[in-house]
Amino acid sequence: MIAIVKLLDGWSRWVFACASTPPEIFAGFIQQRSPTVRASLIGSHLDTVPNAGAYDGILGIVLAIALLEALQGRRLPFGIEVVGFSEEEGVRFGTPFIGSLALVGRLDQQLLDVHDAQGISVRKAIENFGLNPEEIPQAELKERHTGYLELHIEQGPVLEKLNLPLAAVEAIAGQSRLSLHFLDAPTMPVTTPMHLRCDAITGAAEWISAVEPLGSRRAWIGRDCRKDRSQAWSGRT
Ligand SMILES: [Zn+2]
Repeated sequence: MIAIVKLLDGWSRWVFACASTPPEIFAGFIQQRSPTVRASLIGSHLDTVPNAGAYDGILGIVLAIALLEALQGRRLPFGIEVVGFSEEEGVRFGTPFIGSLALVGRLDQQLLDVHDAQGISVRKAIENFGLNPEEIPQAELKERHTGYLELHIEQGPVLEKLNLPLAAVEAIAGQSRLSLHFLDAPTMPVTTPMHLRCDAITGAAEWISAVEPLGSRRAWIGRDCRKDRSQAWSGRT
């Protein structure tokens, strides 16, 4: 966490050097705001998933600040606000989009009570960071915001295969996460004929095989079905 604090501190000073107003930090994300004019947001997420590489998220924030710097104080007819989202990937708390939910005013109090693997709640983590969870509502976007731009590395093979260095996306992937539990019917395998057995692992395997082609059949751009984690417990003796 000390590294993140240092990182935010360094970035905040960089943003301040390039902009007319000081940056603010809410719920662990930085935001530099121009309070009076219509404004566009540029940014990305601060956290990343394991093995996502050195540029996931971070590149979008660094480039946003670099764009401000490149303006060299030149005024545009609209404001530019830099935003860096925390806990976008849900790795620590198992719940994604915490920073961006705060930005759109949809971070409810229940979410602040979610705990990480060490038993630290989102609320406590925000306090440990030196911030006040009560100030989260101040992060909510107002009507003067006109758009959001995110520069992000491609984390798939499409552009690489087309030998294209840059592209604009036409759609963005949303996520629905479900936790499914497959239960055995209590039967004795040796004495139960195959057609009367009900095995959890077999059922899960059938479900996985059915979901896989479903994702491929849909014509929607970016549609995919993933089976992230599976665990099996056996109570049978
Ligand atoms: Zn990312």
